[in-house]
Amino acid sequence: MRIAVLSDIHANLVALDAVLADAGSVDAVWHLGDVVGYGPDPNGVVGRLRGADARGVRGNHDAAAVGGSEIDWFNPDARKAMEWTRGELEDDARTWLADLPERREEGGTTLVHGSPRQPLWEYILSPGSAKANLDRLDQAIGFHGHTHVPVLWRDAEGGVELIRAADQDRVVLDDRRSLINPGSVGQPRDGLPTASYLILDVPDGDPVGPGTTVEWHRVGYDIGSVQRAMLAARLPGFLVRRLELGA
Ligand code: ZN
Repeated sequence: MRIAVLSDIHANLVALDAVLADAGSVDAVWHLGDVVGYGPDPNGVVGRLRGADARGVRGNHDAAAVGGSEIDWFNPDARKAMEWTRGELEDDARTWLADLPERREEGGTTLVHGSPRQPLWEYILSPGSAKANLDRLDQAIGFHGHTHVPVLWRDAEGGVELIRAADQDRVVLDDRRSLINPGSVGQPRDGLPTASYLILDVPDGDPVGPGTTVEWHRVGYDIGSVQRAMLAARLPGFLVRRLELGA
C-alpha cells in the first residue's frame, strides 16, 4: 500500500497539484493541517483534498480560518493573510475545515499538526520536546508538521535520534517509536523552495510500522505564478518572497 502524507499546504494549489501528480497512484492521502493561510487559493486546495478523499487534522491556520481566536497569536503578516483568507473562504470549504479534528488515528498511527501533546501549537524542534512527545504517543508511529522542515525523530539509546531528509531521504521503520514530519507542500522553510512531501510504502496486509519505508520527495512547481496570484490578492510581500527562498 502506498500512502502520500502532506502537510502545511497553505493554500498553494499549484504546489499541491505538482505533488499529487508526482505521487501518482496512491491508496490514500493523509494531511497534517495548515491546509489554508498564507497562500492565494484556499478554496481550490480544500476542493482538491476533498476530491482525493484526504484524511487529516486541523492546523493553527485552519482553526483561525474558521473564526478561532488563534488569529490573535499570529504575527502581522500572518494575520493580514488570515483576514484575507477568512473573507475568501466559501461556505463548504469553511465547513470542511471546521470539521477537521485536532488529532486522528489512521492506519495504526497518530496524525497531528504540531505535536501529540499540543496538537495546534507546539513546534518539535529539540531532542527534549521530541522525547516528551514520543512519550505522549498512543501508537508507536506519529506524523506531525508545523515546522515546515522534513525530519524524523525516533527513540535511540539514551535519548532520541534525528534524521534530516536533507541527509537521508529514505528510512525503513523498525520497532522504535518515531515522529515523522513530511515537510511543507506550500511554503518550505528548510532552504529549498521545492514542495516537500512523503510516501509511505507499507507491506501488504501490515499496519504502518516495522518494515514500512518512509521516503521524502521534493517537487518543483511554478513559484512565479503563485507569487503573481499573491500580489494580485495584495498578500504581504514577505510571504510572496519567501516562497522562492524556501525559508
Ligand atoms: Zn504551517
